[in-house]
Amino acid sequence: MKYPSILFSLCLALSSSTLYADDHEHEHEEHGAHEHGAATLSLAVGTAGLEIMLESPAANIIGFEHAATTDADKQKLADAVKKLEAGAELFSMNTEAGCTLKSAEVISALLGNAEDAAKSKDDHDHKEGETHNDMDVTWSFACTQPAELQEVAVKLFAAFPDGFQHIKAEWVTEKGASALELDKDDTIKLTP
Ligand SMILES: [Zn+2]
Repeated sequence: MKYPSILFSLCLALSSSTLYADDHEHEHEEHGAHEHGAATLSLAVGTAGLEIMLESPAANIIGFEHAATTDADKQKLADAVKKLEAGAELFSMNTEAGCTLKSAEVISALLGNAEDAAKSKDDHDHKEGETHNDMDVTWSFACTQPAELQEVAVKLFAAFPDGFQHIKAEWVTEKGASALELDKDDTIKLTP
């Protein structure tokens, strides 16, 4: 009866090394995520509607990443939040789905509402003048006919013309998942 236990430990060893590889990859992705000009957009279609999440360096949206201390910087930050919160101007869906913006939440250490304390500690470890901060946004759209949702037009490049260069868009629907690299405003087709 030794054989099964060897198999079992082999399985354990294999699964833990797989876990390690996943962790490592994830860590790598997170580092890669903070590249000025780049951002990730995740769309999830559920039974109630559509949730869109943007993860972006703050520089793409407001042009800087240091704490806003001057009136001019504070104004830029406030203007950007206002623009981001107007999610219906940044995304549009095919009308059959009947989607309306329900909420928009902007999270950033620059706004003092980022939950990730460890991350801001990391930021302090950077050399002086090298502060990096992200700005993450979650938009929730309620849709009367979510099954009819076929297209989402992304208008982030036009809204922030000096910021985004490429956006990795990935989406999940009840029918499947896919991804696309955007380098200009475009329409994501959720159905194959
Ligand atoms: Zn940065």
